[in-house]
Amino acid sequence: MPIYHAEVTAIIDTCFGINRMALLGSEVYAGNLTMIPRPEGSPDPVPERAKMLKGCDLYVNGASCPMCMSAIYWARINRVPLGTRLEDTIKQ
Ligand SMILES: [Zn+2]
Repeated sequence: MPIYHAEVTAIIDTCFGINRMALLGSEVYAGNLTMIPRPEGSPDPVPERAKMLKGCDLYVNGASCPMCMSAIYWARINRVPLGTRLEDTIKQ
């Protein structure tokens, strides 16, 4: 599958571990996902977003592609430490 990049599969696996029923489309909810207010001054027009992986870090080897960066944003991951310098990633 062309969308199964490491970052996306890590997010899917983690969300599935936190709330197994949500990914199956069930009405039953047994996880810890909650709605949280957006920070003051946030450009996001929606006043509340699901907590998702807020507070989590995602460690990556190099710079993520645009699809993965979007997935990281929508998963609400706090930090993405890079295993290499951005300049070294660009050289490849
Ligand atoms: Zn990617």
